[in-house]
Parts: sequence; structure tokens; C-alpha cells
Amino acid sequence: MTVEPKMSLREELAAIAAEARAQIERAADLKALKSVEVEFLGRKGGKITNTLRGLGQLPAEERPAVGKLVNEVRDELEAVLKTKEGALREAERQEKLRTERVDVTLPGVAFDSGHLHPVTRTLREIKQIFIGLGFEVVDGPEVETEYYNFEGLNIPADHAARDMWDSFYLGGDLLLRSHTSPVQVRVMEKQQPPVRVIVPGKCFRRDAVDATHHFQFHQVEGLLVDEGISFAHLKGLLGEFARQMFGKQRKSRFVPEYFPFTEPSAGMMIDCFACEGSGCRICKQSGWIEILGSGMVHPAVLENVGYDTQKYTGLAFGMGVERIAMLRHGIDDIRLFYENDLRFLRQF
Ligand SMILES: [Zn+2]
Repeated sequence: MTVEPKMSLREELAAIAAEARAQIERAADLKALKSVEVEFLGRKGGKITNTLRGLGQLPAEERPAVGKLVNEVRDELEAVLKTKEGALREAERQEKLRTERVDVTLPGVAFDSGHLHPVTRTLREIKQIFIGLGFEVVDGPEVETEYYNFEGLNIPADHAARDMWDSFYLGGDLLLRSHTSPVQVRVMEKQQPPVRVIVPGKCFRRDAVDATHHFQFHQVEGLLVDEGISFAHLKGLLGEFARQMFGKQRKSRFVPEYFPFTEPSAGMMIDCFACEGSGCRICKQSGWIEILGSGMVHPAVLENVGYDTQKYTGLAFGMGVERIAMLRHGIDDIRLFYENDLRFLRQF
């Protein structure tokens, strides 16, 4: 606003004050308000401050009254400014609260949680069944000596059966165990019968990797030694396992097999749970599936640990956990278990 030169200082002051009030009222934010403050009340060049310079042209008797008026106008404008500033700050705070508001009732972001590997789940199921049948779960070392892996199990150094387990040797007489059977010997060395254990764990063989072979896999070994244990116990026990694992209707049969540490030895077959015996891809059209190896513990194995073979007999069995999992889920390639491909793992 242009101040007319002929206005009196009082009129000029009133006009400036009115304009200042209007601009303060219009200020939309704190930044705009600050520039209004500088324009009117600034120590250098503020419009109110400038009016004090005009005091010198006034008659001496008017100066105190006009000076007082200038101060009053300045105080009043400062008060108006302060009120406006408070209102603007509150408005900004409300706006911030509005834009940053969090709806705590919205559902959260779910983390992608994993689940147990199909091999682990199968292993746990096998363990549960045998625990229910009165077996104890025992563990053993994955690095074994030749004695426990072979000799203690009736496989002497020159025995042709060693070729069945092409092993990883670690130097000296240490090797990665090629089966969980060595734990049989370790358990029997520490206790007298009755022995009733299963041994789940990893095994290692220098096999070429293909759809049905891997250099590392899981086995569950089982051993039962007591007075009067016969092949009837073996059939009864493993038949019950098969029914719990593969379904109540499962029939089983035993076919001759060879293992150095059992005599007689038998492969256990069940009728195919996928086709009920009529022939399909899983049973290779035969209607039967071999699920484990078993037999009566060879007396030489019992004698190695000092058991009285006139008094005690035993049964033993061993199964591949991957094989059981593959059968149950219709998986045709063992390598899928170890590739960590989530497209595969999420199916179980
Ligand atoms: Zn079948």
C-alpha cells in the first residue's frame, strides 16, 4: 500500500497496522507469516520501525505521544503474530498427524515362513511309529572306523561284500559311514540284551549321482535282540510298521536278499499303495514295492560283542528315508530333495 505523503504520522501508522493485520490473517503457513513479520516489524527496514524515523519531523511536544503509539501498535501486532503463529503450528501438527496416521487394525505383513523338509517329515514319522512299538532312538558318529563300519558287522577286509559299499575314506582307518549299521555294534558293546533301538542318520557312499542314487542319504536302522527272537517277530514288527506308514490294508511279503550281517536276509515288499497291486508307474507295473532290507542278526555279529548266541537271537532292518519319501509322494528323482528348489519343496 502506498502511503500518501500528506498523511499524518498517526494516519500512516494506522494504515500500516491495518495492512499488517490483513497480511497476518492471510498468511497460509509459518514461512509466509515470517516474511510478514520481517516486512512490518523487522529491525532494519520494517515498516513500523521506519515510522519512528518520522518522529524527528514532529513538533517536540507531540513526539512522546506518537512514540508511545508506535510502541503500542508494534506490541499489538506482535501479539497478533504470536496468536497466528500458534494457530499455524497447531494446523501443521494436525496435518502431520493426519498424513502419518497408522491404522493399527490393518492386518500385518506376513513373513514367508518355511516348513519341514519332506525327508525330515518322513524321518520323524518313521521314528514315531517305532517309538510307539517300544523302540529307543539312538545316535552314532558319521565318521566311523573300518572296524565298526565293516569288521564288526561280519565284513572282513577281503570280503567281496565291501564292494557293495564304495566308501569315502578320510585317511587311516577312518571313513564316512556307508550305513547306520555300525551303531548296532556300538549299542551292543555297551549293554546286554534286551536291545531294542532304531538309528536314524546320514550315510555316505561314493555312488554316481542319478535319479535313484546320491552320495549322501538318510537311513533308519533297527535292531532287536532278546531271548527267543525269531523271523516271526521280524515279520510281525515290520508288517505293523508298513501298515502304519503306508495304510492299514497293506500286505507284505519277504524275498531272499543278501547282507553279510544278517542270516537269513530278506527284502520286504508291500503291495503297491498307489495302484492296490494292479500295476503302475510307482511299482514299475509289478504291483509290489520293496521298502526295506532285513534279516536275523548273523551270530558272528553277536559273538563280536560277546553276546551268548545260544541264549540270544536278534532281528535287524534298514530302510532309506529318501526312498520311503519318494514312494509315498510319487517323487521320481532323489536329487530333487537336495536342490533347495522352492517350487519342489512347497508341494509338501
Ligand atoms: Zn503300483
